[in-house]
Amino acid sequence: MRGISISEYSNPDQLRVSELDTPKREPKTLLVETIAAGVNFIDTYQRQGLPGYQKPLPLILGLEGSGRVIQSDPDSSFSVGDVIAWPFHPESYAEVVAIPESKAITVPEGVDPKVAAAVMLQGLTAHYLVNSTFEIKPNSKALVHAGSGGVGRLLIQMIKNAGGVVIATASTEQKRESLGALGCDYAIPYEQFHKTVREITDNAGVDVVYDGVGNDTYMQSLASLRKRGLLALFGASSGAVPPMDLQILNSMGSLFLTRPTLADYIATREEYEKRASDIFRDISEKRLIVEIGGEYPFENASQAHIDLQSRKTSGKLLLVP
Ligand code: NDP
Repeated sequence: MRGISISEYSNPDQLRVSELDTPKREPKTLLVETIAAGVNFIDTYQRQGLPGYQKPLPLILGLEGSGRVIQSDPDSSFSVGDVIAWPFHPESYAEVVAIPESKAITVPEGVDPKVAAAVMLQGLTAHYLVNSTFEIKPNSKALVHAGSGGVGRLLIQMIKNAGGVVIATASTEQKRESLGALGCDYAIPYEQFHKTVREITDNAGVDVVYDGVGNDTYMQSLASLRKRGLLALFGASSGAVPPMDLQILNSMGSLFLTRPTLADYIATREEYEKRASDIFRDISEKRLIVEIGGEYPFENASQAHIDLQSRKTSGKLLLVP
């Protein structure tokens, strides 16, 4: 089978398709023919071997996807031919993937399997941020960074569906203009965004900042919060936040800070299924629009990584075998 494997931490232009061994199916595991694999920022951290993201090499990249079951246990609740999707399973940039049943979720009819692949990491992430890390209620005020990105577009829609008010940053006029269609209340540039947020909120600040950008934004994100507001620092697209003096949480208004990760919010099968079924229901009912910002054949995986890191993209990037 073909797949994208790295034997050293590398630049995106080192990504190549090669012939690899087809994975062996263990009990309670499904062998799946991939329909689409999602491209996520975390894949670029793993490709570069950033601290905290290093895995044994060689490594087949990719952490999510969708596909058709080609082998399963005779007593499995999944059958050959079923379309499933999965989050957080390594080696997803491959034509055939072995997925533990515990990570597989059936893609309902009415949901395009490529769209299902697109929402596994980013959709589940947006879901836990808006429902569990800081629960958005009617009139909650939220600031979302990189509003035009994969997670960002989903966050905006989920906050609006819950009745919240959204301010979102995006780097270009074109990206900002695209956010109106998602219901975004205010699309603003990054420059001095904490001041813009204060102007919009009559100086009060927002209840929560969902910040996946990290190093370039976290200080102004803290300065955008109301007293006792929460910074949910969920990513590092611009680089990791350096160690900080916790005293600033006191002096900036008794603020809260959390650094969440998806795995802890889908730790039980029940929680995982609830989040996934909410997302699939909202997609079927067109309350959640998933933009596929680019579909790249495996041969062009390097271009997908280059585009994602160069801030050219909007929405979700997929790799297709
Ligand atoms: P995006 O599609 O959001 O792409 C990243 C965006 O970040 C860019 O398009 C760009 O938008 C913005 N950005 C700002 N500064 C930079 C910079 N210096 N370099 C590159 N991009 C920059 O990616 P994803 O939706 O895949 O991921 C968003 C974040 O969410 C990532 O940090 C990722 O690691 C994190 N994440 C966290 C999870 C968790 O559970 N903690 C799970 C999944 C994702 P613009 O041009 O508008 O600034």
